Amino acid sequence: MNQKTNNSERVNPEITKRIEELREFIHRYDYEYYVLNEPSVHDREYDRLMDELISLEKQYPFLVTPDSPTQRVGGEPIKEFPVVFHDISMLSLSNTYSEDELHDFHRRVRELIPSKEEVNYTTELKIDGVAISLQYRGGLFVQGVTRGDGTRGDEISNNLRTIKSIPLRLNFKEVEEKLFENIEVRGEIYMNRKEFDLMNIEREKLGEKLFANPRNATAGTLKLQDPRLVAERPLNFFVYSLRSYSTELNSQSENLLLLKNLGFKVNQQYKLCESIYDVIQFCREWEEKRESLPYDIDGVVIKVNDLKQQELLGNIAKSPRWATAFKFEAKKTRTKLKKITLQVGRQGTITPVAELEPVLLAGTTVSRATLHNFEEIQRKDIREGDSVLIEKGGDIIPKVIEVVIDERSSTSDPFEAPEKCPECGSKLFNPEGEVAIYCINYDCPAQVKGRIIHFASRGTMDIEGLGEAIIEKFVELGFLNNVADVYRLKNHRSKLIELEGYGEKSIDNLLTAIEESKSQSFERILFALGIRHVGAGVAKVLARSFSSIDDLIKAKHEDIQKIHEIGETISESISNFFSNKNNLKLIKDLRGFGLQFESKQKSSSTKLSGKSFVVTGTLGSMTRDEAKQRIELLGGKTTDSVSSKTGFVIAGENPGSKLEKAKKLKIEILSEDDFLTLLKS
Ligand code: NAD
Repeated sequence: MNQKTNNSERVNPEITKRIEELREFIHRYDYEYYVLNEPSVHDREYDRLMDELISLEKQYPFLVTPDSPTQRVGGEPIKEFPVVFHDISMLSLSNTYSEDELHDFHRRVRELIPSKEEVNYTTELKIDGVAISLQYRGGLFVQGVTRGDGTRGDEISNNLRTIKSIPLRLNFKEVEEKLFENIEVRGEIYMNRKEFDLMNIEREKLGEKLFANPRNATAGTLKLQDPRLVAERPLNFFVYSLRSYSTELNSQSENLLLLKNLGFKVNQQYKLCESIYDVIQFCREWEEKRESLPYDIDGVVIKVNDLKQQELLGNIAKSPRWATAFKFEAKKTRTKLKKITLQVGRQGTITPVAELEPVLLAGTTVSRATLHNFEEIQRKDIREGDSVLIEKGGDIIPKVIEVVIDERSSTSDPFEAPEKCPECGSKLFNPEGEVAIYCINYDCPAQVKGRIIHFASRGTMDIEGLGEAIIEKFVELGFLNNVADVYRLKNHRSKLIELEGYGEKSIDNLLTAIEESKSQSFERILFALGIRHVGAGVAKVLARSFSSIDDLIKAKHEDIQKIHEIGETISESISNFFSNKNNLKLIKDLRGFGLQFESKQKSSSTKLSGKSFVVTGTLGSMTRDEAKQRIELLGGKTTDSVSSKTGFVIAGENPGSKLEKAKKLKIEILSEDDFLTLLKS
């Protein structure tokens, strides 16, 4: 502990601040990507931020926290399904973007493999879908789980059963049944582009929200609660990994053959490469040919072929050392920028948007692109009427990368940043040191709408039926002026059912959904309040650290900042929010309506309650942090040092002095197997 304080004291506060800032960004982007299926930044930008965080944490290892995004994989289970722990964590992959990075990867592999051994790689297409794990027992499909946070995912077996390319019974004609009747396979659920387009056309006809791309549609579909709806969606499955509980396996390329023989759909565009040069050629070839495939790929996955070598290489925090993903460059095209319009966000940020001459890019028609902020427009000297080059990185929101200066009209003028809010006309404000410009009129209609949309959306209060269009209408008609008004809508029932296009049934369903939202957890509500810099991740930390909103309101700015994951910017923003009388009134009103402003017992189970554990040494099936997380989820307590109060010590390999101490104190010692049995009991 002292060591940490001393080290921390020596770190430049700017570094700590940057680390906190990066974590907050990444938490927010993870949430948008994995939970909402609505990413707001390119994958490349996300990867850049993650790389920066990884390298800072490498320099200052004592600043690494267990919940840093560098330590975690993917999103969170969504809780509407039973949550299941993976036997072996489902990891992410490290990324490479260039030939040099591929050579670096090869060098790192070579350094750990004895020099007399050859290293071969399998190269497989990186299908842009959703990873899942399937369990077969006695040759029958018994369970399917999403990757979730890598340690535990959602059990979505019933949804998966509807996918025709997932065999419900294995084929043992060419494979020895005894060895392969109990297996785990992993692979990717995806949608073909053509079927995705047809589905979106149908949705448009029905006035339903369109999916951004096949991956989002796949992720959204797998979360549906009704397998009949899932069955109607064109989902497909490619498998790429095999583990048998009864036999040892040799290589990835052999596994792909075995999987095919067992009746799975294996993508046939894989190759066994003898050198890194072959790997590079394969990557380049598919980067060129990617459009010829009926489904989206976002790169190539490179895996050391020999499974013994894979084992020797092992894993780092959230990805294996024996594999990497080569990510393709973004797709680019040229078009005309007709106009620059301004959007006002829920926190008043003014974002410039490029309205484009519609153009086909990577399979979809693009007519808008983000310009991020006014500094960026100035730096790139982007003007209305310019020819511009646009790109799609993570295939989501296109971005203007540069102007084709040669084609600029001699009469064009530089774009001037606005001085007044385009929605309410109030004067705009540019805080020192920030690039963003804000409308600071809290009652600006665009902000009011934005706050209510955020409040009602899926990751927050999750009010079904209270979408963007209806909120806009209710704000215009004066039914909604702030988020508390959502709970007053029932007083206007008789007027609402008279509105054109709604009717009694849909209004009653909406009012029921609003009532049901009152049981959302404290952490969700904290996020829903829309406090600047408080994303889902920070809200969770706050709900864990303060037992009620009163404690948080009373807390001083310095107290909030003492919480490990929370930096100055965030704590200042929280204090500011609660020093505003209007916000306190809003909370009072919401509380009056019965919303939960107190933390509930964190763990859903009490199986291990009253028991305390120390985890020491290296565990084979999970990291120490994962083990602690699982104990806490079952109501147990974990500590880092052994004392007479410790109930159990879980000892992995190379346990060191903690085990010795436990023996001396006669504390019960559990092996990893004992621990796994305890979890399953
Ligand atoms: P990843 O997509 O880079 O790679 C891992 C995944 O590849 C596996 O889980 C699996 O689903 C998939 N895969 C496809 N074909 C495969 C094959 N043949 N063999 C093995 N795996 C295969 O990693 P990730 O953890 O799923 O996601 C992290 C990435 O997602 C980031 O690097 C970033 O690019 C993107 N991301 C973007 C945002 C954003 O806001 N834009 C947010 C979070 C994550």
